Parts: sequence; C-alpha cells; structure tokens
Amino acid sequence: SEAVARIHAVTLIPGDGIGPEVTDAVVRILEAAGKATGVTFAWERFAAGAEAFAKQGEYIPHELSESIERTRVGLKGPVTTPIGGGFASINVTLRKQFELYANFRPIKNLPGLETKYPGVDLVIVRENTEGLYVGLEHEVVPGVVESIKVITAKASTRIAKWAFEYARKQKRRKIHAIHKANIMKLSDGLFLKCAREVSKSYPEITYGEHIIDNTCMQLVMNPYQYDTLVMENLYGDIVSDLCSGLIGGLGLVPGANIGDHAAIFEAVHGSAPDIAGKDIANPTALLQSAVLMLRHLEEDATADRIQTALEKVYVEAKTLTRDVHGTAGTKAFADAVLAAMEGAK
Ligand code: ATP
Ligand code: MG
Repeated sequence: SEAVARIHAVTLIPGDGIGPEVTDAVVRILEAAGKATGVTFAWERFAAGAEAFAKQGEYIPHELSESIERTRVGLKGPVTTPIGGGFASINVTLRKQFELYANFRPIKNLPGLETKYPGVDLVIVRENTEGLYVGLEHEVVPGVVESIKVITAKASTRIAKWAFEYARKQKRRKIHAIHKANIMKLSDGLFLKCAREVSKSYPEITYGEHIIDNTCMQLVMNPYQYDTLVMENLYGDIVSDLCSGLIGGLGLVPGANIGDHAAIFEAVHGSAPDIAGKDIANPTALLQSAVLMLRHLEEDATADRIQTALEKVYVEAKTLTRDVHGTAGTKAFADAVLAAMEGAK
C-alpha cells in the first residue's frame, strides 16, 4: 500500500564512458518516481573496471561482489572492455560470477518515435554464461590461435526453459531457436537438441528453428514474423544490436541479466566513448532497464509512473536526444521526463 514506505537496497554501478551521465539521469528519475509512490532506494554505489583497478587494485572490488550477494539486485551502466589485450570484460565476468544465465532484451517501439519499422514487439533471450564468451583462447603455434566455444546441455536446457517459461507467462505465441548447426554440428546441434526437447513441454507455443545468417536477413526484411528468439551468447550479442536498429538504435533498448539468486539490469549498449562526457547520450535504454528492475522488485506503480512519463516525452517529441533526431542533451531529456511525471500528479 502507499502508506507503507518500501525500501530497496540496490547495487549501483555507474560504469564509465557515458555510464555516469545516463546513470545520473536515471537515478534522478527513479528517486522522484519512488518518492511519489512510497519507494525508497538505498543505493550501494561502486566503481568497476579500469576505474576500480586504479582506485582499489581490483577490477571487480570484493565489496561490489558482496553488495550484489546481499542486495541481489543491480543497476549497471556500461563498463569499457579493452579491445585486444587488457582485462576480461567486467560485464561478462559479473554475469558468470553470479550465474546470471538469462539475458533478456525486449525490443519494442516507443510511441511517437518514427522508425523504419513501426509496431515491432520482439524478445531476445540470450544465453549469458558460455558459448564463445568463456574466453578460452590460446596460441597453438605462432600464427594460429584457437578460441573455444563451449556449449553444455545444462546451460542450453536452462536458457530454453527460461525462454519458454517467460513466453508462457507473457502469453507469447512463438519461439525460434537461432543457430548455425549446419556448420557447428556438435555445439549448435546440442543447443538445438536441448531447445527442441524443452519445447515439447509447451505445446501452446509454436517452436521453430532458424539459421543465424538467414535470421538477420529475415529480421531486416520482416521483423514481424518473429516473436521470441532464443540463442547462444555471441549470436545474442549481434542480433540484439541489429534489433535495436529496427526500433531506433542502441539508445533505447533495455536489458536484464537474470539468475536464480540475483539480477543485474543494464542497457544493451556499451560505454560509447565517442559521445562520452558531452551530455549527448540517450538515457532511455538504462531508464527502461530500471523499469524492468522495478517490475522485478514488484514495484509496478513506480514502473508505470516512469514508463508513462517516458512515453509522453516521446509522443510530444519536443525534448529528445540526438540519436533519435532531437537536439536535447542527456540532462534536459531527464528533466523532461521528470516534468512529465510531475504533470501526472
Ligand atoms: P560493447 O562492446 O560494450 O557492446 P560497442 O562497441 O558495441 O560496445 P557501443 O558503446 O554500444 O559500442 O556504441 C555503439 C554506437 O552506438 C556508438 O556510436 C554510440 O555513440 C552509439 N550509442 C550507444 N549508446 C548510446 C546512447 N545511450 N545514446 C546515444 N548513442 C548511443
Ligand atoms: Mg555491443
């Protein structure tokens, strides 16, 4: 009820690049929405990656890990991963460390925002712990390296079950398993076999299998033919970016990394160093990730309040960021969402 104040401890990782800017915007909006709906956030804020290493000598400080173990909920901005050498991806390490095996990414148009494809409503369910992301690479002899793709029946069955359970609860009709089992007969073959087996327990959901390259073409030609897509880690990474392009870009698409014991909510996009520190980035993707977090915390009134205000700002189209053809900065956009929420009183 509204009378009882509810407090949620949330581990907050602002990240780097555009991370701090979009995180500030989102925290401001969450606090205001919380205030209006009787929700208080007890933020446990931590650096991660290069910034944490410089300050504390650890890429993922143990206090951060302990915080997630305790709060079981994280809101996370992007953390830069060095290309080529350097340390392992913080994003990937956190997903593995807390067994956040399901990466859930809803792809849906924002009302009022004109895009090439109106009315898209897709869900990507990405396996989040294995595949080529295990990071097992070695040099066999100079000039020859191997990168190992690990697919297990356990993780494949687990992600397929998660996808089908989600589809059942949300009354979605179709699931496609996306693969390249014609080439990777054993690894993707196993992934498919597991998905097919799981599908038998969900007769109300139509099950199909599409090859990844064809899927990319099909998505661009006619995204409406798909509903929910389940796939291994790397395909999920690539197809997520492709699908974000269908609805207006990376500035919009939220994500959730979900395990049995914890969940971390983060945008699909990375740290976007090209636009960092310029008050240009669109905080919508992280804001919609925060909305997913609120639903996970069963704070639907707070989530609805934010989503309604966000949609109002897009419909009015007066204060949008550059990636969606506006001229407003990150802060001004957040102010517009705050004003729309105030107006809703
Ligand atoms: P990662 O490897 O972490 O996924 P990436 O190399 O895929 O990162 P991103 O950081 O996601 O790259 O950025 C890709 C492009 O999208 C960049 O040009 C960036 O400016 C743009 N972009 C990403 N996020 C946003 C945002 N929130 N607002 C506006 N533009 C964005
Ligand atoms: Mg990317």
